[in-house]
Amino acid sequence: MFLDQLSVLVAIGFSGASLGLTFFMMWVIGRSEAHLLMWAIALALIVVGVVFFGAVVENYSSALLLTSFLFLIAGFGLLYTGCASFCSGDTDWTPAITCVAIALLLTTITFALGYSGVGTMIGNVAIGTLLILTGRHYWRARAESPVLMATNAIFSFVTAASFIACGYALAEQGQLILTSRPANWAEEINSIVAIAGLSGMGALSLTLNQMRIANGHKSDAMKDALTGLLNRRALLDNPEEIAPTGTAVVMMDLDYFKTINDRFGHDSGDRILMAFADVIHANIRSNDLAARMGGEEFCIIMPDSNLKSSAVVADRIRSQIEMTSIQTTSGPIRATVSAGIAVRSLEPETLQSLLSRADAALYEAKASGRNRVQLSGFSLAA
Ligand code: GH3
Ligand code: MG
Ligand code: MG
Repeated sequence: MFLDQLSVLVAIGFSGASLGLTFFMMWVIGRSEAHLLMWAIALALIVVGVVFFGAVVENYSSALLLTSFLFLIAGFGLLYTGCASFCSGDTDWTPAITCVAIALLLTTITFALGYSGVGTMIGNVAIGTLLILTGRHYWRARAESPVLMATNAIFSFVTAASFIACGYALAEQGQLILTSRPANWAEEINSIVAIAGLSGMGALSLTLNQMRIANGHKSDAMKDALTGLLNRRALLDNPEEIAPTGTAVVMMDLDYFKTINDRFGHDSGDRILMAFADVIHANIRSNDLAARMGGEEFCIIMPDSNLKSSAVVADRIRSQIEMTSIQTTSGPIRATVSAGIAVRSLEPETLQSLLSRADAALYEAKASGRNRVQLSGFSLAA
């Protein structure tokens, strides 16, 4: 081999330890992402396994080799559980515990019976299997970040193959009982692949973790905290943009909301705002956008719509609010809403202009008695 095995193991040990420490520090900062702690402990177990393997390289002993495999299997099992939790939010430990328990048992029994070669084959295949399961989770989660998740899956599969090859090489040589450390072409490939695979997976998982945090902040910044709908900034990303033909803008505002707040309290007012948002959400299509513009004013942007269909939706929301008895801490409360609608006609018109026309229609709906839908420039619809 062009590198001596002990140096390679030292490299795996140090890179694994620093990666594990990084995961641990990240977990300490956030405290909410359990997968970071799982990965940190997994790497610690793997590093201990590598240290025992290094001892075997220095001075062969089947007990040390078995101990090394026990730590490695437990470490890769925990790595798999962390990935399941990270990739799919799956916190069920049963598959990992089952795989790890079977692997630990079979490896220990075969070593105890004196078949250290068979035990080494089983240990390697078990680690390979856990890595395949890990890679499967990354592969299935590739919609989130196709390149990074798929690369991580490939790292897992290649590393898995290098462990399984170690088992295969021993079987090929018919080494059922070892009298010295396993040394063959597969072990050499495995050492190099393990360094590349583990550091690659670690770096990419950290990147994915940070990307997820950044995306979470971005999506929080676009959301209204009380109702979960979009906020004004998210809805009006570019108000001067020409709205496509058929864009309908519906502005809605709760009637006499100040009075409701004054009579029933701010908390009850908040409950009504949440119920209003739920009714809006339940009545719009997946490509419609709904936002809380501020206070008790909401806006829906409907692409590919027209005056009639947008008025039907707005009036359905209006009547559902009117019919709903909203449960609050001050008891059930009924509220009504008024709406103004503007639809982009054949003339080019900016989103801002549509909003202003919808706002003016809403003002008319309020002026003509509230609890109604007013079309911009047209007669009353509801
Ligand atoms: P109108 O029918 O003309 O719309 O009358 P209104 O009372 O609904 O309108 P006005 O603009 O006078 O009052 C809006 C009220 O909305 C005033 C404010 O206390 C209340 N408000 C704004 N934001 C919130 C909020 O986040 N929670 C609660 N509970 N109330 C809010
Ligand atoms: Mg109001
Ligand atoms: Mg208002």
